[in-house]
Amino acid sequence: MNRNENAAQPPRRGLMLVLSSPSGAGKTTMSRNLLESDDEISLSVSVTTRMRRRSEVDGIHYRFVPVARFEAMRDRGELLEWAEVHGNFYGTPADTVESELAAGRDMLFDIDWQGTRQLYEKSRADLVSVFVLPPSAGELRNRLERRAEDSAEIILERLANAREELSHWGEYDYLIVNRDLNDSLEALHAILKAERQRRTRLPAMADFVAALQNDL
Ligand code: 5GP
Repeated sequence: MNRNENAAQPPRRGLMLVLSSPSGAGKTTMSRNLLESDDEISLSVSVTTRMRRRSEVDGIHYRFVPVARFEAMRDRGELLEWAEVHGNFYGTPADTVESELAAGRDMLFDIDWQGTRQLYEKSRADLVSVFVLPPSAGELRNRLERRAEDSAEIILERLANAREELSHWGEYDYLIVNRDLNDSLEALHAILKAERQRRTRLPAMADFVAALQNDL
């Protein structure tokens, strides 16, 4: 047997999967489902100054911090990107991202268009960006209203913000119209599967191919 026949799959560099959408398009359900069904990807837990919703757990959904702490992290350069959304600050801690990618693990970023732009500037080669669209304006409104955890005032603010977020759809690599959750998840899995095979994420492939050529 030559040495390639039992060779493991060459290791790959992890990718950064960005999911953005207007609030209420179903992105959070899609992220949760993806994280549960795929163990090669983990969530980048953002820091935020927003109030915790009852259903959220500190350290799992977000790290909830006071404004002063957020500003200190930002000013020390500890955030890979940050933005003000709906009057609150949100940011991505830089510390674990590079080590995860180098170890071949993917990371999921549930961030807005402002953050996506900053990641494009810093890490274009690692980035795969997906924009999730609601099937209609009525459906978006229904979904926001059904989320009983937010007050009427917050819902109105999020609707206004949805218009702004939507206008950035053209800056993303992939678009998914979330008509049916299962179809949307299937599309997301397909994107991830293909992007994992991208040549630029397979640095060890050069040695693998060289060994193949050598053994021929
Ligand atoms: P929510 O308050 O509903 O959890 O999030 C509001 C918006 O902020 C969503 O569009 C979400 O994607 C975005 N967001 C959450 N974390 C971050 C972050 O770390 N950076 C940026 N730029 N946006 C974020």
